[in-house]
Amino acid sequence: MADKSEIVPENVPGKYYVDKTCTPCHTCMEVANAATLLKYNEDETYVYFHKQPATPEETVIAEDALAICPTGAIGNDGE
Ligand code: SF4
Repeated sequence: MADKSEIVPENVPGKYYVDKTCTPCHTCMEVANAATLLKYNEDETYVYFHKQPATPEETVIAEDALAICPTGAIGNDGE
């Protein structure tokens, strides 16, 4: 389970976040339209939420990414 005290710094504030356990394995980026919300950091060592979901469709993207992440790096209890 993702740890919001270990959030990567680029995440925009809000409910969804990526923590430092992102490898990155790239799996979440294969979710349809994942780039709407997630992107790689500059040296591609992890991904982060550059945008919080604002519509039901975007919430589905975030939840699908959370569900598919093999390391549990995505959380949905951020602030
Ligand atoms: S699926 Fe998880 S570990 Fe893989 S890139 Fe996405 S957040 Fe990182």
